[in-house]
Amino acid sequence: MAVKKAFQAEVNQVLQLITHSMYSKPEVFIRELISNASDAIEKRSFLGLEDAKMLEGFEKGAIYVHVDDKAGTLSFSDNGIGMDADDLDLHLGTIAKSGTKAFINSLKQANSEQDKVSMIGQFGVGFYSAFVVADKVSVLTRKAGLSKSDAFLWESDGISNYEVNPSERDEVGTTVTLHLKEDHQEFLQDWQLRQNITKYSDHIRCGVFMEKIVHQEDQESTEKEVKYEQVNQGTALWMKDRKDIKKEEYESFYQHISNDFEPPADWIHKKVEGNYAYSMLLYLPKRAPFDLWHRDHSRGLKLYVQRVFIMDKVEQFLPNYLRFVRGVIDSNDLPLNVSREILQSNRVIDVIKQSATKHVLDLLDKKALDKEAYQEFWKQFGNVIKEGVGEDYQNQEKIQQLLRFSSTFDESGKQTQSLADYVSRMHEGQKDIFYVVADGYSSGMFSPHMEYFKKKGIEVLVLTDRIDEWMITRLSRFEEKNLVSITQSKLDHDDLKVDDQVKASMSDIIDRLKAYYKDRVKDVVLTKKLSQSPSCVVGENHEMTLHLRRILKDAGQPVPDFKPTLELNPDHIMVKALANEQSEDLFALIADILFDQSIISEGGELSEPGRLVQNYNKWISIELEKKV
Ligand code: ADP
Ligand code: MG
Repeated sequence: MAVKKAFQAEVNQVLQLITHSMYSKPEVFIRELISNASDAIEKRSFLGLEDAKMLEGFEKGAIYVHVDDKAGTLSFSDNGIGMDADDLDLHLGTIAKSGTKAFINSLKQANSEQDKVSMIGQFGVGFYSAFVVADKVSVLTRKAGLSKSDAFLWESDGISNYEVNPSERDEVGTTVTLHLKEDHQEFLQDWQLRQNITKYSDHIRCGVFMEKIVHQEDQESTEKEVKYEQVNQGTALWMKDRKDIKKEEYESFYQHISNDFEPPADWIHKKVEGNYAYSMLLYLPKRAPFDLWHRDHSRGLKLYVQRVFIMDKVEQFLPNYLRFVRGVIDSNDLPLNVSREILQSNRVIDVIKQSATKHVLDLLDKKALDKEAYQEFWKQFGNVIKEGVGEDYQNQEKIQQLLRFSSTFDESGKQTQSLADYVSRMHEGQKDIFYVVADGYSSGMFSPHMEYFKKKGIEVLVLTDRIDEWMITRLSRFEEKNLVSITQSKLDHDDLKVDDQVKASMSDIIDRLKAYYKDRVKDVVLTKKLSQSPSCVVGENHEMTLHLRRILKDAGQPVPDFKPTLELNPDHIMVKALANEQSEDLFALIADILFDQSIISEGGELSEPGRLVQNYNKWISIELEKKV
């Protein structure tokens, strides 16, 4: 009696999720099974490069799709690498992929069916999609290098367990047979199947064959002659000429390599001949994959050497900040036995990387011309591109042109602006590009520092993403203009100079405040930049903002001490009242309030938050007591 084996817990979860969320795309299994078959054939050819035994009896890779309407089954046969019993346990009983847990969690949180379907696709839980349409799947397989009697039969109903039994198979390879569910018999219909297979297999490099049923001339005879015909083109898409490739072919090839259900946003296809010869076909996805920010996000391009598939997920061809790009590189100059180690430092790789990076950046630049489409793209991938500011000095100029920010120019905060847009709107005599870093658009707009800029109609970029502050300190200049934080610098605009007369009349109060604050502040000064607020704090340009301090502190990182300069609005009633205040207690109360609230409106954190609340209550009580 055969032993039933339980699926790994993750497989059960994934199986459940898939079978429950894929009603809208039941045909996906076709693409997944064909792509597995083609992977298996590529693996066998690759291993055959070193070990001829792997290729015994192998002429050409081929996939056969067979329909049996009487039995209600559909099968996919390949002459690929095959599997032994251990492989079956490992590949069709467990999911070894990193990030599986994260995937399951994000899938549970997905909002729409469309999101789910797209996530499942990106994760690539391929084989198990067979259970969307089948209530039983069997896999008869013989691994390359093993004999006819060393084959195995894997069977499962896709509910919690599977069986593996010894079996026989004449040739090396794998046959996956689906026993279709009652409500999915439509896949037995020849035309529908053919349509789907053509759609999903055109870019597969080996032939995909389907039965062509030819009835004998003799009407009386029920005998049939079975002939197979190739239903796909079976060439490497990236080797063809651009003009011979249809848009649909590019799109379906992308879907094949990325597992994405959506077509790509754009692509670049180049064939380079010269000192080094290589082809590249690179795609921009429409949507960020769910794990773009996970450390183990599977990224990288597929590497072929002279049309032979060598390896997947090669990260060396693109910098980290372009990690969302998918595609294929085919080089003529790398050895067929190239290893991951060789890829780490190799002249050929460097050349291809430089050119791939340049082409992707150029494509993005071109995309940016269509503001709306670029806005969409930026929403998905902008925060990744920003990493390029610190990562890729060579391409700084290009990267800077690609950046987009919210700005006071569009008060809805929705439309983003480029630095070049900003510069084109700068006032006469304006030397710097101004920005504020804040938790969100509206908190940036309410910063006391904004008052002057609003009044003057000077545009301010409002940076609200976590990465922004880090990025902006690395950016620091754009087209000869400094980027200046409105909260981190003392502005020396002429119209902000405080009159000597005012200075003289307020010098006592400034001294008294300095003596009171002691170590809390670096300095106390007067400013004309505030109109509604009594005070604000500023740091030094390029000093860490209070906002970033808080983020780092939350993350448990050490932060250096910070002493701000307190700026006072001499026209504000609180400041005027303070200047005349005789009572020491009341003076201390107002001084503390001024300081604490300035820290808060900068997104900073108070060392004693209770003090501010107490002070407010005290003060309000004093005022109310006057009334009773
Ligand atoms: P993925 O293809 O993303 O690895 P799948 O669920 O589609 O995930 O397949 C799981 C694994 O099962 C494959 O990686 C491969 O090792 C094995 N496998 C599936 N189909 C075949 C096949 N036809 N021939 C050989 N191995 C296969
Ligand atoms: Mg697969």
